[in-house]
Amino acid sequence: MTLRSAQPGPVASPSSAQELLADLEMPRIHDAWGEVPAGDESGESFPVDDVMQRRVEKAQFKGTSEAGGRGRYHISTMGCQMNKADSERMAGVLEAAGWRPAPDADSADVCVVNTCSIRDLSEQKVYSWAGRQAKRKRDDPSGVKIVVAGCVAQQTGETLLRRMPEVDLVMGPQHVHRLAELLNQVELGSQVCATGELAIPEDITVPRRESDISAWVNVIYGCNENCSYCIVPSVRGREQSRKAADIVREVQGLGDAGYKEVTLLGQNIDAYGRDLPGYAADGSGRKEWTFTDLLRAVHDASDIPRLRFATSHPRYFSPRLIRACAELDRVCEYFHIPFQAGDDEVLRRMRRGYTADKYRRIVGDLRDAMPDCSISADAIVGFPGETEAQFEGTLRLVEELELDTVYTAAFSPRPGTEAAGWTGPGDQVADLIKADRLQRLNDAVKASAEKASRRSLARAYEEVLVEGPNPADPAQAFGRTRGNRLLYFPGDGVALRGSIVRVKTNDARAFSLTGALLAP
Ligand code: SF4
Repeated sequence: MTLRSAQPGPVASPSSAQELLADLEMPRIHDAWGEVPAGDESGESFPVDDVMQRRVEKAQFKGTSEAGGRGRYHISTMGCQMNKADSERMAGVLEAAGWRPAPDADSADVCVVNTCSIRDLSEQKVYSWAGRQAKRKRDDPSGVKIVVAGCVAQQTGETLLRRMPEVDLVMGPQHVHRLAELLNQVELGSQVCATGELAIPEDITVPRRESDISAWVNVIYGCNENCSYCIVPSVRGREQSRKAADIVREVQGLGDAGYKEVTLLGQNIDAYGRDLPGYAADGSGRKEWTFTDLLRAVHDASDIPRLRFATSHPRYFSPRLIRACAELDRVCEYFHIPFQAGDDEVLRRMRRGYTADKYRRIVGDLRDAMPDCSISADAIVGFPGETEAQFEGTLRLVEELELDTVYTAAFSPRPGTEAAGWTGPGDQVADLIKADRLQRLNDAVKASAEKASRRSLARAYEEVLVEGPNPADPAQAFGRTRGNRLLYFPGDGVALRGSIVRVKTNDARAFSLTGALLAP
């Protein structure tokens, strides 16, 4: 087999703090967008990905027991919701090319693993996953085709192909839309590496969506920030905003297909549009399309009952965006805005580009405009050189702002990042100190989340988009409030799935609520 480079160039890209947190091996509180099984408030481990993965697998296999003309595919997904959205696009590309889903990797003709380099263990997981498929391939050389996609693929490139010659294709996140074409090259006998920098074209393939209720829509790829701890800019590339007209058309199509909720996605979604040409006609000097303009356009062009967006960067979260969110009634009052640290010196060394006071002002402005809004964040403890006093700044910020939740992580150096090179005396915080700070921060987050949950008890009702029966108790239905809290209530989750109902909260725990269904 020949090794073929499918590069249009070399790449770089960022990861949101959400992704970063999604990772580090220390326990975190809970996943902003994942599905948490009933009663799981432990904040331990990562049940979310397993649950989500099973759902993706089920959705991919649903109703397609017959293999298509090309054979069967299976995609395993690691990491954040950007990766999950990429997996849906890959499934769409493969199905458009005649591949059909397989129930599991071991029965697939094409096995894809969509990787995440944020989590320390991810690279090891990739090798262990690929090792199993490589054995299948050694037993039957004409059998499975092995594809490693995503951030680990981007970072390791040809090295991965050399280390595991059974792997057929290594492709970075910018090449998702090329999957079928790259597989054609593999079928011609090449081992293919596609990790070059690439302008992502407007997709003509419809993603194969995991849910028929809620959909993710990418609006901007990549990140132009340079946070000193983050690997994302080097794996996902520079920002590339999709054209507003294409996004609006996609959301309209989702509305026509009956979707109830759309989440617009980007590493730094509020930076949308700064790479697009044109300036606003009002002479303000703004770009013609900012995220605020996009949000208004999407809202006005569709009647989808719920719109959300993530992840927001405090540097770009403008008063204009806050006004729009308050005015647009179908934009849910839930905002994920990572602050990462509550100390200005730590923020400076993280290269985050804002101060703790600026973050406080954003939260204050949001609450002035939408008193019932929910706000979540990401935070890192044990950043190189972080002193006890600096950590206490983070702790104070959590206690003072009483956010709905904070996804916490202990700093873990990522090879290739600036902060990983800070190895002088006193730079790296000892693991025991990190663990202690993480525990104290998690305790503060839990207390803050409990207060936020209790605010629901005072409301007349919560509007809940029902996702189905509670897996742990089929007599209960569950869904999410506009503020993104899980809410469980007695009811027929199968019959109510996809409907928006009113539920009166009668019990509040830190990360979930229970209540009673109100008459329509
Ligand atoms: S903003 Fe910073 S943390 Fe977020 S993806 Fe970009 S570089 Fe990474």
